[in-house]
Amino acid sequence: MQILRTVGELRAWSRVARSQGAAVGLVPTMGALHAGHASLIRAAAASCAHVAVSIFVNPTQFGPNEDYARYPRTFDADCKLAQAEGAEVIFAPAVEELYPTGAATFVEVDGIGDRLDGKSRPGHFRGVATVVAKLLIAAEPDRAFFGQKDAAQVAVLRRMVADMRLGTELVVCPIVRESDGLALSSRNIYLSHDERMQALTLSRAIRRVEALVASDERRAEILLAAAQATFAAEPAVRVDYIALVDWATLEPVAMAVPGSLFAVAAWVGATRLIDNVVIGVERRIIEQLF
Ligand code: AMP
Repeated sequence: MQILRTVGELRAWSRVARSQGAAVGLVPTMGALHAGHASLIRAAAASCAHVAVSIFVNPTQFGPNEDYARYPRTFDADCKLAQAEGAEVIFAPAVEELYPTGAATFVEVDGIGDRLDGKSRPGHFRGVATVVAKLLIAAEPDRAFFGQKDAAQVAVLRRMVADMRLGTELVVCPIVRESDGLALSSRNIYLSHDERMQALTLSRAIRRVEALVASDERRAEILLAAAQATFAAEPAVRVDYIALVDWATLEPVAMAVPGSLFAVAAWVGATRLIDNVVIGVERRIIEQLF
């Protein structure tokens, strides 16, 4: 498996692959790969003859007091996992390669980019949209693979790809969870033993809402209150947001309909975790919805 370090190398690799008439897939990540990332790479390898995995801890999507410096970096293990799942190349640029000295160009997705995580983490989606735009422009993939775990990110990127006519199809893969329900995240390694237990509050709230919807409850106020109550039972966990929104615009909705996104973010100690469920949509058609 090749490790590419420059945008020029990535572009050249992609052009050769596409000149052979084969589909190119891109899986953007920040590394510290786990089974969630593995599922994206597997999905990419299943539908694209050539797959690149990017590993780049993107400084512009971290706030000044966030965990950029201590974000886990496990490059050698990441390369092994990516190769085992079918990646052909790893794109692992230095910061200066994606942000040359004096870089002053950013991508902002108005409205959507300021909702949910964009509201809690000002500038976060500006950083995400900017780096993903750079990756898509360089690799020109036929398809790029993202996790529903970051559903708000998917909404922002869909808008960006449509607005900039980037021509890449976004494929969204279901959330991979631990057996007890916790959504896999590179940040889970920050959790102490006690925090790991407390972190289950997020998936518990999600399941509570799913159960209510299954019993035909659709009113946002009832669903939100049920999730609030779940969090209230675990005071060590501090809610950032609990929201029922339209999956595409991230605007609040009063009634859950198929495709509504129920999303939570919460602090467990110093670690911010997120989780969500797309209401009334079977796992197998989530990809087509986003
Ligand atoms: P990250 O490295 O955290 O930026 O994530 C890279 C990609 O992996 C994003 O598209 C995430 O949504 C996706 N991802 C992260 N965790 C999971 C998970 N538990 N299940 C599915 N996809 C995930």
